[in-house]
Amino acid sequence: MKIPELLIPAGNREKMHTAILYGADAVYVGIAGLSLRSQSAEMLLADLASGIKDAHAQGVKVYGAVNTFARNTDLDLMRQIIPEVKAVGLDALIVSDPGMVRLLGDLAPRIPLHLSTQANTTNTDAVRFWQDQGVRRIVLARELNLKEISEIAAAVPEMELEIFVHGAMCVAYSGRCYLSAFRNRRSANQGDCSQPCRWEYLLHESTRPTEPLVLEEDERYSYLLSSRDLCLIEYLPEILASGVVSLKIEGRMKSSYYVAMVTRTYRQALDTLIRHTANYRSKPEWLDELGKISNRGYTTGFAFSEEKINETSPDIKYIQTHEPAGTILEYDATRKIILLDVRNRLTAGDELELILPESTVKIDSLTMLDFNGNRLATAHGGNKVYFPWEGRAPVGAMIRKAIRPKAEDN
Ligand code: SF4
Repeated sequence: MKIPELLIPAGNREKMHTAILYGADAVYVGIAGLSLRSQSAEMLLADLASGIKDAHAQGVKVYGAVNTFARNTDLDLMRQIIPEVKAVGLDALIVSDPGMVRLLGDLAPRIPLHLSTQANTTNTDAVRFWQDQGVRRIVLARELNLKEISEIAAAVPEMELEIFVHGAMCVAYSGRCYLSAFRNRRSANQGDCSQPCRWEYLLHESTRPTEPLVLEEDERYSYLLSSRDLCLIEYLPEILASGVVSLKIEGRMKSSYYVAMVTRTYRQALDTLIRHTANYRSKPEWLDELGKISNRGYTTGFAFSEEKINETSPDIKYIQTHEPAGTILEYDATRKIILLDVRNRLTAGDELELILPESTVKIDSLTMLDFNGNRLATAHGGNKVYFPWEGRAPVGAMIRKAIRPKAEDN
């Protein structure tokens, strides 16, 4: 059985490092000004060059997203930066616009093209069409089920197919949606969705604006439009059998903690599948670990769906049991001490865990120290603190903390 690559979002250099540390086979990054994500999740080509060098040194591929719905000005920008794009050594470019496909085919024919899911490829003839245009790989539409994916893979075996296995889902078809632009002047079609489908809505009668009509889905709010998040970790054998070559994780805008947890968990599952193909079983702890990152309840999306509808989450707001405590900046093996860059408020007594690529280890928060070795009762985001530690602690590894129930907060 050929194991597909694990493809992880990397919105910046830090997330790229995190993805590589925790087991990515490949990462995808937005190229500034041309990807369907806002600037905070894009990289300048100068930064990208050093990131690609590091990634390649560890056998990890880097794909650059230029998947905007291109206007003429975008194509002009692409023409201008193409010498730099060629020079940085990307392993592929992710595109969605036919004009961009044509332009890159002419000006950068040696860079493989991957067709973005934004192109909404949903059938075998569409795959053949893009094959004729020189596309090497297609990220199929999220709306396909595994049976349809298998049929396409069998009919066009020479085309590489990639699918999303984890992350946020739209209630709009493949993200073609104006809700965010309309409500917030942030367009999903330019990669800047503010996710208003996940806001809480009330129904008002116009003459009584202070008396909302409550649509009771739970005791607090109605989430009429919001999809649960995709999670297919329990179905990796079925996905592999479908013939896809790449498993993609959504979330270039998400945190390094999300990148660490999702990468590590899917890496462990895929490695287990390689070693124990015949008697492979999904482990409950993998789902448990994915429950420790912010999520809206999980769904298998369209993977097994015949009805072609997405599952919303009327009963679930964001769920989060843990949050990042910080990232390891340094491990002094002589003094046996970790230097932590704190992300969220820490209090002595918090439940802390070091997330190693292969395991999770408890850290005693009562041993938190300042630069001079004095015990600390609290630390805040941006502080640098120390913990005595013996053992492995790679730079960039994350420490997480259990979120205390509200009543215990002070
Ligand atoms: S508002 Fe919701 S449905 Fe529309 S693009 Fe954003 S996430 Fe998707």
